[in-house]
Amino acid sequence: MLVGVPLGLAGLALAIAAVAPSSSGADVAAVPAATVAPATPVPIAEVAEPAPDVAPSSPTPVDATTTTGSESGQSGRSAMNEANPGLDVVWRIDTEDPVFFITVDDNIRDEAVAAAGMRVVETNQIPITAFLTTNYIDGDTDYFQQVTRFGGSIQNHTVTHSWLDRPETDPRFELCTAQDELQEQFGSRPWMIRPPYGAPYIGGSNEPRLEAAAAECGVNRIVMWSAVVDNGNVSYNPGPTLQAGDIVLFHFWDPQFAEGLQMILDIGAANGLRPAALGDYL
Ligand SMILES: [Zn+2]
Repeated sequence: MLVGVPLGLAGLALAIAAVAPSSSGADVAAVPAATVAPATPVPIAEVAEPAPDVAPSSPTPVDATTTTGSESGQSGRSAMNEANPGLDVVWRIDTEDPVFFITVDDNIRDEAVAAAGMRVVETNQIPITAFLTTNYIDGDTDYFQQVTRFGGSIQNHTVTHSWLDRPETDPRFELCTAQDELQEQFGSRPWMIRPPYGAPYIGGSNEPRLEAAAAECGVNRIVMWSAVVDNGNVSYNPGPTLQAGDIVLFHFWDPQFAEGLQMILDIGAANGLRPAALGDYL
């Protein structure tokens, strides 16, 4: 039920353009649009994300009035996950259901952008899986709880948004500390991680240190993606359009976040697909 791209094939064609951190959210590299379905699944590079551009601040105390549990969207493991506890790297979901999955990464940079995205989520009751980078989300607890409340969940996108395959990075710190911080901030412990930049999986490699840390800290799904929406553009792999089971990557800081959400909903509707909760399929 889970689809993993053979790692030996995954690294053939892609390199992620590294860009210098910037204060602008608009300096992402263009993602080439897939015009034909490739014969072999080749991952789409995530937009080359600039590092989050807000200064880390001290942890926010947990709001005592915060609700937790499935009603708030910060649910625990699905029954399917409980039954399949082994570690998987997931690129898309193999399903006959007419569904796709919306995931949104990183942190908020512009309140108006975030608010516009929230309106689309609320109007359409989209189950959002939010992969959050803990150094950059203090003060936005309420937003992330609200935006995931339609069956979505809050998941792990590390502490500092570092490349997990670089020797100077400590995957255990990045993963396990984020687990603890997210649990404290939102009241439940994540069980999925999206590695920043998709590294090293998008390059066709794996990361034993990350996988060891995942096992240690309660994560058993490393979630990649099969489509990217960025600044009003969409790319698929495999292409050429949205298909059942696709996992779509967004960013909370995308200047066209709201427009992109509406676009993928419209494309999904045209293809007979609706957004579903990723957690229910993992
Ligand atoms: Zn990211």
